[in-house]
Amino acid sequence: MTLSIGHFIAGQAEPGTGERSGPVFNPSTGEEIARCPYASRATLDRAVAAAGEAARQWGRASHATRQAVIFKLRELVIANTDLLAETIGREHGKTLADAKGEIGRAVEGIEFAVNAPQVTKGEFAANVGGDIDVFSLRVPIGVVGAITPFNFPIMVPAVMMTMAVSVGNAIVWKPSEKVPSTALIFARLWQQAGLPDGVFNVVQGDKDMVDAMLEHPGIAGVSFVGSTAVGEYVYQKGTSHNKRVAAFTGGKNHMLVMPDADLESAASAFVSAGFGSASQRCMAVSLLLPVGEETADRLRELVLQKTRALHIGAYNDPRADFGAVVSLQSKQAVERAIGTCIEQGGELLLDGRGLRVPGHENGYYIGPTLFDRVTTGMELYQQEIFGPVRGIMRPASFDEALAITNAHEYGNGAVIFTRDGKSAHRFMHEIESGMIGVNVPVPLPAGFFNFGGLRRSKFGEGHLYGPDAARFYTKIKTVSQRWPEPDQQAAPVSLAFNP
Ligand code: NAD
Repeated sequence: MTLSIGHFIAGQAEPGTGERSGPVFNPSTGEEIARCPYASRATLDRAVAAAGEAARQWGRASHATRQAVIFKLRELVIANTDLLAETIGREHGKTLADAKGEIGRAVEGIEFAVNAPQVTKGEFAANVGGDIDVFSLRVPIGVVGAITPFNFPIMVPAVMMTMAVSVGNAIVWKPSEKVPSTALIFARLWQQAGLPDGVFNVVQGDKDMVDAMLEHPGIAGVSFVGSTAVGEYVYQKGTSHNKRVAAFTGGKNHMLVMPDADLESAASAFVSAGFGSASQRCMAVSLLLPVGEETADRLRELVLQKTRALHIGAYNDPRADFGAVVSLQSKQAVERAIGTCIEQGGELLLDGRGLRVPGHENGYYIGPTLFDRVTTGMELYQQEIFGPVRGIMRPASFDEALAITNAHEYGNGAVIFTRDGKSAHRFMHEIESGMIGVNVPVPLPAGFFNFGGLRRSKFGEGHLYGPDAARFYTKIKTVSQRWPEPDQQAAPVSLAFNP
């Protein structure tokens, strides 16, 4: 399946009107490989109109009808794994193995979405008084606007939107303009799975399209994943236009290692969870916090040894552990952050700047970069650096490590490595993070649990996937119902209270 980049509206691929467009790069080579047309407001109007029309029918479709489409979608995503992985790798830069891992997680989210009726079936109380039964109905909200980041071109969209479709909504999706092609494949797979035209639409674009979606009266709710600054803006603007908004944003995920931990596995976990996908993951471990100097010294050696063994290469290099970062701007920002950390007194153990990958000299590569003696006053602690720069901090105690973690503005994920149940127990109760790992490097919840951070890693209620996502994409109606016999008196209408 080859598609030129464009929009997908009411079941038809559209090339775009060519008003505005932006370049799409292959980060592994630095080549511009395509231009992505950006939709105009008029194009968005057509997409929302198509979605609104389709949502009325789809919202009334039986659960069995919707589930049959989603089961089929699951098969099609699996059957198209190679095509999806190649498309993701070419535009994102992540390795094919990593892209396939992402597809596996997307499939998990799709699988859980068929369970939506378990969450949306509502409540019932018989005879609350006067033969009146009361029950609740969860109904679709209508048209959902989806805005997604570059770093998971299929996983984030799949987990987000399959649930929204499963409970009866229609979609208008604006993918990241850096990775626009996967969206068109996904739209075609929905169509092949039997989804009626108009339920799933794609409009390409940048900030302007996000603004147009947030202002559009035909969009009832917005699901956003991306950086914190943009997510906060989307949340505030969307809610000011009376939409429900859930925004899942940046992370700075700390890994505490107690002196009693298995240091060998803690080091492996830090290196894989820290540098995988060139650290461009919201759940990447950013900072290592070994408790006590002795633990820090031992762990530092193990981490250095394992990090030095990492191989960096093009997305289709089977030996590569990770690939290029997504753009030249991103490479420059990460290299600037390395310079700042040196100026601020971080101890540079490994410097990934200036890495050259033979045959791909213009690719956006940065080697794994590691600092020791990072402190809370440094940018490397304060900011989410979306590239392969990781740091070691040196808390003297468990309490200090906990305080450092909880003082951060983000609360996406946090993990502890220990053999002591008491430390783990305190950690899970006292840490202010939405997703917590105990001897688990990336605590990405299974598809049937809720995914979402705390603090400034999430704006609004709702979760990206899991049971709460089914709730976010539905609204509640509560029905009080009485069926009197023809000769029975009408129910009293007054609010009289006679204690
Ligand atoms: P981004 O915020 O730059 O872009 C996200 C989306 O917003 C894109 O579709 C983009 O076109 C749009 N956008 C960009 N700038 C905008 C602006 N000024 N106004 C309105 N819309 C704008 O994020 P990104 O660089 O694509 O993705 C990386 C970020 O996403 C990281 O911060 C990462 O932690 C976060 N992320 C979070 C999660 C999570 O679940 N919490 C998951 C994946 C990624």
